[in-house]
Amino acid sequence: PTVMKDVLLELPKVKWTEIGGLEDVRQLLYTVTVRPFKFPDLANKFGGTQSRKGVLLYGPPGCAKTLIAQAVATESNLNFLAVKGSELIKMYVGESERAIRDVFRKARAAKPCIIFFDEIDSIGKSRDKSQDSGLNVVTTLLNEMDGIETLKDVLIIGATNKPDILDSALIRPGRFDARQYVGLPNLEARRQIFHIHTKRMPLSTDVDLGDLAARTEGSSGAEIKDLCAIAVDASMTEFESDPTKPPEVKMSHFEYALSTHVPQTSREEA
Ligand code: ATP
Repeated sequence: PTVMKDVLLELPKVKWTEIGGLEDVRQLLYTVTVRPFKFPDLANKFGGTQSRKGVLLYGPPGCAKTLIAQAVATESNLNFLAVKGSELIKMYVGESERAIRDVFRKARAAKPCIIFFDEIDSIGKSRDKSQDSGLNVVTTLLNEMDGIETLKDVLIIGATNKPDILDSALIRPGRFDARQYVGLPNLEARRQIFHIHTKRMPLSTDVDLGDLAARTEGSSGAEIKDLCAIAVDASMTEFESDPTKPPEVKMSHFEYALSTHVPQTSREEA
């Protein structure tokens, strides 16, 4: 029963239009996840049972891996079970394994269903590198993935910032057989992300989203979202001190936000 609180059963309403960039990722996920659910007979017409059980999304933090998984669930009309790998790691012997089995049990009960394993590296660490307890955890995960009969019922989306530490057995056919890199947004994607996170704001006409995008190379989507929040805070502070002026988010507020901001990549290289 304790594991239940780690496991969230929900129907997120994230649409692809709320995600900037990542067209290639969207296409791959449509092909391997949404389409088989939408058109279950199509694979037969094309001569095979081309079914995949799992998709691994990997790449730097804050680049929409969670959003993507939620958009897939929304588009395919599946239930969605979100779990953080680190939350399944328990203190006592056998508890982590039980927690993993419980997730799969819950998914089978809620099928058709997507299991989203964030931080999958915490339960899928290479057996060479793990302690004895880690070994059992990976083995349990592999066994449970093998136990899923068809893609029609349960699909697993894993996410990690550290794909290199995953056990190689996890990325064999029948497990995470599709893999997709989710990287930092390019210029056009950053412009879209700024647009997505400012579209409900009272933006002043002097705000140039293209300029902001050009000045945030190396930033993740999560960082761009933070910048927008800082700009709004600055604008509210100004409004509070002079409520006779119109409530507006101006370029000067974004300038302030940029001055406080160090992009993800330059931190990593430092
Ligand atoms: P982590 O690896 O840290 O778990 P993640 O890759 O799963 O991160 P999300 O949690 O999906 O990233 O992203 C964090 C937030 O950043 C999102 O909820 C969203 O608001 C914003 N964001 C990130 N990327 C994008 C994007 N491409 N378009 C719109 N918003 C984005």
